[in-house]
Amino acid sequence: MIITSINMHHFHFKGDNLYCEDCRVSDIAERVGTPVYVYSHKTLTDHFLKLKKAFRSVNPLISYSMKANANLAFVKSLVDCGAGLDIVSGGELYRAKKLRCDPKKIVYAGVGKTVREIKEAIQWGILLFNAESLAELEVIDRTARSLGRKVDVSLRVNPDVDVKTHKYVTTGKKGTKFGLDFCTARVIFARQRDFPNLRLNGVHVHIGSQILTYSPFVRAFRRLLDFVRLLERDGHKIRFIDLGGGLGIIYGKERPQTAREFARRVLPLLRRFKSARYRIIFEPGRFIAGNSGIFVTKVIYVKKANAKNFVIVDGGMNDLVRPALYGSYHEVVPLRRTRGRKILADVVGPVCESGDFFALDRMLIEPKAGDYISFFGAGAYGFSMSSNYNARPRAAEVMVKGKSFEIVRRRESYNDLVRGERIPGFLKKK
Ligand SMILES: *Cc1c(COP(=O)(O)O)cnc(C)c1O
Repeated sequence: MIITSINMHHFHFKGDNLYCEDCRVSDIAERVGTPVYVYSHKTLTDHFLKLKKAFRSVNPLISYSMKANANLAFVKSLVDCGAGLDIVSGGELYRAKKLRCDPKKIVYAGVGKTVREIKEAIQWGILLFNAESLAELEVIDRTARSLGRKVDVSLRVNPDVDVKTHKYVTTGKKGTKFGLDFCTARVIFARQRDFPNLRLNGVHVHIGSQILTYSPFVRAFRRLLDFVRLLERDGHKIRFIDLGGGLGIIYGKERPQTAREFARRVLPLLRRFKSARYRIIFEPGRFIAGNSGIFVTKVIYVKKANAKNFVIVDGGMNDLVRPALYGSYHEVVPLRRTRGRKILADVVGPVCESGDFFALDRMLIEPKAGDYISFFGAGAYGFSMSSNYNARPRAAEVMVKGKSFEIVRRRESYNDLVRGERIPGFLKKK
């Protein structure tokens, strides 16, 4: 298991047993059943506070990107520490309202906001929209007028920087659907008067996810800040500078920048923008959530076929899709350390897809049916991407704080699976 000063988390062995903070994880698995997500409250809030501390000198708004993990307890833990939220849908806005996040700390991104979503966000009084197209600006303007409101809008620009990460999570390169090129964005700023109900007064970038080094960030931020100066020379008043998220974390052998290293490279760029006239915004998701959670499963069978070993567990790709979707690596950690024969094995789920795996060709002590196995780094894009594929009820979620733990989402029942479905009249027997 990896414990480094770079990525402190609160999942560790005491004797032969894995603990989350001061709770034995196998006790949670026994009580709640498996599969189950287990979150560490302290790890979660520590990561937020680390970033906040590193950037203290510019007093940024740190809006946690809710899509990484939108569980109410999870998000409330951060909101209670002073976090804002970065939302991407009306559903996330609903969650933000439920947990009473200050609307003046909410920023709203996404290429496809609907009229209904825009209306709800304006009514709730969010801080700003990060708009991605001219067509969207027109809709926000019209909606604001119909509500008799004036709203702050930033334009998301695409700085065209290449990022060494999975192509599905690269968003700041020419050719992706995200943002506007600088040229188009400048032309739109010049048309400010066409949008009397908007204050077009901010810029936004978000270049991708799981980015391990500062260099693409620095390149993107330089371009963005040069653009701000250009806009100011054009006579525009810029107030919001939103630098997005994307900071990478440790899943396996990565050595990502720490919050402090990141700040050391980025703060000098922001020197000119330190005055109260500007509001700096960050939107971290994975950095805060990723190492705060593990996914716990139970071994159902160990099988050998074609000279290969398979460890089949009771969680599947419907619960944690990252390996199937991105080929992601997750550390495989049994909840109890044992001695025994080592085998090379694939750790897989029960779903009827060959992509349903958690780990391929991994050396592990041969487990037996009934043993618990966890996957680390499952706090971000884990439960939030889960589904009911193969008619599998979604896993329970548990949050640990010190010696106590609570279920923060109950395991779904079979009844939940069919909730809202009905047999139409023309199929019913007369
Ligand atoms: C997904 C997303 C983020 C968060 O990305 P992470 O890699 O999880 O930090 C931030 N901003 C926007 C606009 C996003 O879409």
